[in-house]
Amino acid sequence: MFSDELARLSWDDTTAAIAAKTADDVERALRRPKPTVDDFMALISPAAEPYLEIMARLSRRYTEERFGRTVSLFIPLYLTNSCTNSCVYCGFHVANKMPRTILTPAEMEREYAAIKELGPFENLLLVTGENPAKAGVPYLAKALDLAKPHFSNLKIEVMPLATEEYAELRRHGMNGVICFQETYHRDNYKSYHPRGMKSNFEWRVNGFDRMGQAGVHSIGMGVLIGLEKEWRTDLTMMAYHLRYLQHHYWRTKYSVNFPRMCPAENGGFQPNCLMTDRELAQLTFAMRIFDHDVDISYSTRELPAFRDHMATLGVTTMSAGSRTEPGGYACYPEALEQFEVSDPRSVDEVVNALKTMGVEPVWKDWDSVFDKHLSDGR
Ligand code: SF4
Repeated sequence: MFSDELARLSWDDTTAAIAAKTADDVERALRRPKPTVDDFMALISPAAEPYLEIMARLSRRYTEERFGRTVSLFIPLYLTNSCTNSCVYCGFHVANKMPRTILTPAEMEREYAAIKELGPFENLLLVTGENPAKAGVPYLAKALDLAKPHFSNLKIEVMPLATEEYAELRRHGMNGVICFQETYHRDNYKSYHPRGMKSNFEWRVNGFDRMGQAGVHSIGMGVLIGLEKEWRTDLTMMAYHLRYLQHHYWRTKYSVNFPRMCPAENGGFQPNCLMTDRELAQLTFAMRIFDHDVDISYSTRELPAFRDHMATLGVTTMSAGSRTEPGGYACYPEALEQFEVSDPRSVDEVVNALKTMGVEPVWKDWDSVFDKHLSDGR
């Protein structure tokens, strides 16, 4: 399990090693055909800041070699904002007295139809808060069953599950799982997640192993940038985690996402660092140079011009037309959003902007027949 690997890594030593990186380290990393995590540390370090243009060109080259000039589009559907956790940075935390919505099967159907009206989406991400009693595995299985006739690629972003639960949801058409570790700082993790299921660091960080053991085809990961002052250290731990997973579950496809906090949201929580656009660009290029195959995903948390630009330089997956309130497409468009959308453009506007940048939007890059083929080969 990755928690054993993580226990061998020192947060403080890693932070010091990143700060000590030099221009020579950066240039060595840029020359290396298969960069190591140590190279990744150099590429995200302050020493790499003067190399941003070179990194951007390299990132674009690797991305085009592997993905062409394409961006895969997906849309999230929040099924419920009911949650038993108390994450200090989230407005949905259990102590917040607010109306809670759990979409019924009929409401799910209305949402799926409304999404199809927005654009020919085939990639759907189903999102829930963590409420196993009311929105647990049977509820998710129902949502997947109802979605399957309308979408070819179904992913979930829900509470960490047991191996057999992931396997069960795969039988209902689930193809991928996204889970944010939030932070790899074990001690501080507890202070951000004081109560509820999410307070168990080991259960969360080892959830990725359980996904791999269940044969989940696509695993998405990320840290919440802003929780830890030393964001570079957190991202380095994630890079170790990515390499560990690729080594152990090599048939699985991986994606990364870099959600960053803004000062004005987060349920009153003040971020411990604010990442600039330039730093996010550097991180994105560093990740692409570190791993030519990983999907790099940007959500509508980012501003339109920045998303459009980064779609040509390393990003390969994007959401569009997103609503982050449950039932936001048809049933409850006035409900409270989990986070503020910074790219409010319509799906057509996003598509046209990508085409203007010379990037081809991709709606479908997966079919369930592949899953059967892969399962047979396991
Ligand atoms: S971040 Fe997720 S788990 Fe935490 S309170 Fe918000 S909805 Fe619940």
